[in-house]
Amino acid sequence: MTLEPRRLVITIDGPAGSGKSTVSKILAKRLGYIYVDTGAMYRAVAVLARDSGEPNPLDEPLLEAICSELDLRFVSKNGEPRLLANGRDGTEEIRKPEISSLASAVSAREVVRERLSDIQRSMGAAGGVVLEGRDMGTVVFPDADIKFFLDAGPDIRSQRRYLELEAKGEKVAPAEVHQQMLERDRNDRNRPLAPLKAAADAIVVDSSNLKIEEVVQLMLDHIGAKREAHSVMVGEND
Ligand code: C5P
Repeated sequence: MTLEPRRLVITIDGPAGSGKSTVSKILAKRLGYIYVDTGAMYRAVAVLARDSGEPNPLDEPLLEAICSELDLRFVSKNGEPRLLANGRDGTEEIRKPEISSLASAVSAREVVRERLSDIQRSMGAAGGVVLEGRDMGTVVFPDADIKFFLDAGPDIRSQRRYLELEAKGEKVAPAEVHQQMLERDRNDRNRPLAPLKAAADAIVVDSSNLKIEEVVQLMLDHIGAKREAHSVMVGEND
C-alpha cells in the first residue's frame, strides 16, 4: 500500500493576457495532468460559425446546429496541445485576432455555453486536470479542489497579447490590440451568463510584477498543500 496524492481538479480563470495559458500548460506538465484550454473551445465554435456560409455567424438556429453536431478533442503533438473541431485541426486558425471578438460574442449565448460546459465537465470528471477559462471555478467546476484567479494590469496584459501576436507574424497595431482586449474583457465581465469573475473561494494572483516561474511556484505551493491533504491509499486491496 502506498499513499498517493489524489488527482485534483484545478481551475484557473482570468482575463485575456493574464498569463493563464502559459502558466496552466506548465502546471499541467509538471503535475502530469491533462490541460484543457476552454477559450480554444469557444474560439473553435466561432470559426465554425464564421465558415458556415451563413451571413450572420450569431444566428441562433446556426449556433444550435453547430452545437448539436459538435465534436471537440484535444490531442498532443510534439508535446503541444492541438484542438480538433469535428476532426479538423484548427489550432492556428482559432488564434487569429478577428476570431477573438467573435469568440467573445458566441460565448455569451446560452446554447453554446451549455454545450461547451458539458464537454468541459466530461473532460475534467476524472480529475488530474488543469482547466483554464473564465467560468471554470464559478460555473463549470464550482466544487474544484483548488481555484485560481489570475489577473494583471490592462497595459501589461495588452502588451503581452501584442508580443504574442507579433511573434506569430500577425500585423496588428498595439493600440488596436489594447482596445480590442478591453472591449472583450468588458463583454466577458458584464454578460449575464457565466460572467468573468473570481469565485468567492479562488486564490487571486496578480501577475503584473511576477515572472512566469514565480507565478507557477506560488501556485505549486498551494497545490502541494492541497495534494498532501487529499492523499489516498493505493495498493493491492484497491
Ligand atoms: O481564453 P481566450 O482568450 O482564448 O478565450 C476567448 C473567449 O472565449 C473569451 O474572450 C471569452 O469570451 C470566451 N470564454 C468564455 N468562457 C471560458 C473561456 C473562454 O466565455 N471558460
